[in-house]
Amino acid sequence: MGTIQNHQSEIQNLPTKLVIIGGSDAGISAALRARELDSTVDVTVIVADNFPNFSICGIPFYLSGEVPDWRNLAHRTADEITQTGINLLVNHRATNIDAEQKSVEMVNQEGEIKNLNYDKLIIGTGAIPVEPAIEGLELSGVFLLHSMADSFAIHRHLTNQSPKSAVIIGDGYIGLEMADGLTHRGLDVTLVGRSPTVMRTVDGSIGNLIASELQSRGVEVVNSVEVKTIKENGQELVVYGTNSFSKKTDMVIVAVGVQPLTELAHNPGIKIGKRDAIQVNRKMETNIPDIYAAGDCVETWHRLLGEYIYLPLGTTAHKQGRIAGENALGGNEEFAGSLGTQVVKIFDIAVARTGLRDSDAKAAGFHPLTVEFETWDHKVYYPGAKKLRIRVTGDTETGQLLGAQIAGHYQGEVAKRIDIFATAIFHNMKVDELSQLDLSYTPPLSSPWEPVQMSAQAWMKQF
Ligand SMILES: Cc1cc2nc3c(=O)[nH]c(=O)nc-3n(C[C@H](O)[C@H](O)[C@H](O)COP(=O)(O)OP(=O)(O)OC[C@H]3O[C@@H](n4cnc5c(N)ncnc54)[C@H](O)[C@@H]3O)c2cc1C
Repeated sequence: MGTIQNHQSEIQNLPTKLVIIGGSDAGISAALRARELDSTVDVTVIVADNFPNFSICGIPFYLSGEVPDWRNLAHRTADEITQTGINLLVNHRATNIDAEQKSVEMVNQEGEIKNLNYDKLIIGTGAIPVEPAIEGLELSGVFLLHSMADSFAIHRHLTNQSPKSAVIIGDGYIGLEMADGLTHRGLDVTLVGRSPTVMRTVDGSIGNLIASELQSRGVEVVNSVEVKTIKENGQELVVYGTNSFSKKTDMVIVAVGVQPLTELAHNPGIKIGKRDAIQVNRKMETNIPDIYAAGDCVETWHRLLGEYIYLPLGTTAHKQGRIAGENALGGNEEFAGSLGTQVVKIFDIAVARTGLRDSDAKAAGFHPLTVEFETWDHKVYYPGAKKLRIRVTGDTETGQLLGAQIAGHYQGEVAKRIDIFATAIFHNMKVDELSQLDLSYTPPLSSPWEPVQMSAQAWMKQF
């Protein structure tokens, strides 16, 4: 039936019907690319909520009060999206995919069930927060954080209950941004993590720098504690964990990672892979013909490891969505792979990482050496120079650059610098070759030897 339908589209010269489930980074990128390539394509995006194309990455800055109006978090408004010729079905939840009939079943807010036929389908249903096995997650004043709806619930609590204190469970980048944001709002914040140092995607020495910054702003940092229970005690909550941890608080935010939302994959027999994410190839095709998937719901090709892992990031979702949108229209694009490049701002510092750390590289069979180097972020005679710490990881057998981590002042070009490393890793450069790059320089921003190059030279000395 599906083939006949496709065939009919071709014979009758009907526009391709592209249906996309999910209207965030991956889904909207796919839709925009498809319309960009072919303005006759009939694109419909089904979105479960009323917030298509919102930058959920901006939620911590809305909750901190730095972005006062949540509407400003929209990458594009719904009107701007529909003006490109995309049909938007907001408040419609896709409930089933029938791959034989090539149709998607969905239900709207009123409970009406509808079906929509497709020639090509892209799944961009993203992720949902992991709910750790903590007793008391259902208590009032305890929040998970991922969606706009989550952010409104937290915002209401902050506005109506005026909490004075918060415990944040999870010391990854979202927990760190929330520690900054709630402190900015005037709350006393305790950040609790399972690892010995915060942000386990960077090494301990960088994690310790982050902890110092947090502590200097009054955040209590608690490491190596697994929270087990949250209990109500009158108006307060009490959070209990291992190592005899207990803390009274007015609210709790849980941000311990995400898991792919893939329930729609089961009925049509779409294969599931690492961490229960949808298996795709680098063309973003699933194993079922004419069904693609992209973003936080899929496995991601890691460029250095040469294998699929689960690495959900907004940057990746945008790229994968664009590729799925192009290939659904007959393109032949391949996702080049992720390096896990990310940057986070915590109060006055920025911390960034790309590629493999020493431990990741060893586990993958490389022979890594990691060298830590400290210098100024610009010529020290120009006012405002701050220390920049860079860790470079390279392979001792081949000299190949494998990874880098940077911590510095948030105005110290940390993101630009990690992006130099990311670009170099993408092109398989050796650490030594970084010294030959023609990089920009003016004293208020850098040095004749860019700190990235100095850190590469420090690595070469020990190579
Ligand atoms: C607080 C926070 C901060 C972040 N900061 C950063 C950052 O600084 N940098 C970065 O790179 N990444 C960041 N991320 C991660 C980034 O936001 C995600 O990687 C990105 O949003 C993934 O996009 P996606 O389109 O795959 O999925 P999602 O954004 O999860 O969107 C999924 C979409 O699918 C819809 N949907 C789900 N199920 C259905 C259904 N059955 N029917 C219809 N629609 C459905 C949802 O309504 C939504 O529109 C952050 C995430 C959070 C939560």
